[in-house]
Amino acid sequence: MDFETVKENAENFEAAVYNRFELGIKCGKGATLLDFSGKEYIDFSSGIGVNIFGIADEGWIAAVTAQLKLIQHTCNLYYNEPASALVKLLCEKSGFKRAFLCNSGAEANECAIKVARKYWHDRHGEGKAEIITLKDSFHGRTVTTLSATGQGGMHKHFMPFTEGFLYAAPNDIDDLKSKISAATAAVMIEAVQGEGGVNALDKNYVQKIAELCGERDILLICDEIQCGNGRTGRLFGYMNFEVKPDIVTTAKGLGGGLPIGAALFNEKTEKVLGKGDHGSTFGGNPIAAAGAVEILSRLNDELLSEVIKKSDYMVSKLKKLDEIASVHGMGLMLGASLKTKKARDVAAECITEGLVVLTAKEKLRFLPPLNISYEEIDLGLEILSKVLSKQQ
Ligand SMILES: *Cc1c(COP(=O)(O)O)cnc(C)c1O
Repeated sequence: MDFETVKENAENFEAAVYNRFELGIKCGKGATLLDFSGKEYIDFSSGIGVNIFGIADEGWIAAVTAQLKLIQHTCNLYYNEPASALVKLLCEKSGFKRAFLCNSGAEANECAIKVARKYWHDRHGEGKAEIITLKDSFHGRTVTTLSATGQGGMHKHFMPFTEGFLYAAPNDIDDLKSKISAATAAVMIEAVQGEGGVNALDKNYVQKIAELCGERDILLICDEIQCGNGRTGRLFGYMNFEVKPDIVTTAKGLGGGLPIGAALFNEKTEKVLGKGDHGSTFGGNPIAAAGAVEILSRLNDELLSEVIKKSDYMVSKLKKLDEIASVHGMGLMLGASLKTKKARDVAAECITEGLVVLTAKEKLRFLPPLNISYEEIDLGLEILSKVLSKQQ
């Protein structure tokens, strides 16, 4: 199929929910993508943080294809090896006690919300079910995770939404305090808000939230769907703040390109779910789990320190670009505010010039593969610099 046919089919037959750029991606290698005409692009997007080791990574392909030749699906009435290896590895690497495997970020958060509510229901019955999230957060697209998402603009069309969510202003501990009551079951945060504009929370603020949760017996949930899996230079973003959440959710980068999500539970929350309380047909799918085992086993200290070095390198180069007003984020989850240009226009122009970047609200957003080469970073930043210095 040529690009025109691909585009036409999608425009005519797919639910029209995506505001797409003029680009069809056919294949790639590492942090270089190829379109249908063979034109190359540097990838600063990783498919929104998913292709964490880039395209066609050999270790990942080997892990996935080896499993593909054994069995593609088993269902959760029986045991399978990759899922069992994955939950063990997730717990060993994170220090959590148990994991539930699912297929997406929204599902992981849905599970976390169910666990937070059942935790208190088991102890107190009804009346302690409120969850405080932050303004500008993003927690997913299901009816409940949209409710959890602290963006008023997304609370429309689909009423009635799930009740019991309150939204506090980020980095304002007094506002959070004012939302806490005897009904508060949990506080849910992203260490670095992704969709909301690549806003890293202040360390001090997150530590105060953890303290408050400890004092007032409230569960702390960290949504690590975008900022987890090595993205910030630590296994999970919250680890930069030296706090200990009760539940962690992750997805995006975990499968290296295959759909998978996970919710992790500590000593407090590990026994909340019992037989029949939750489940997923595809959760723990052997192919996706085999990919995730490969990804996780490579997120070691050496790789994480490379992420920090590449981040420092990118940040210092970004700060030298005239049109960039400020640089935000952590690790290889970076955002740039622009002085005069519109992020979406810049992203479209970058595509024309051979660079794929994301936007988040009014910022440019960069989520390159964690193993991107310095050469690819340089090439990408050269293109960005050229686009940003063009006269409008
Ligand atoms: C992407 C994202 C989600 C939703 O993940 P899906 O896999 O699209 O359901 C939830 N939370 C955060 C922080 C995300 O970035």
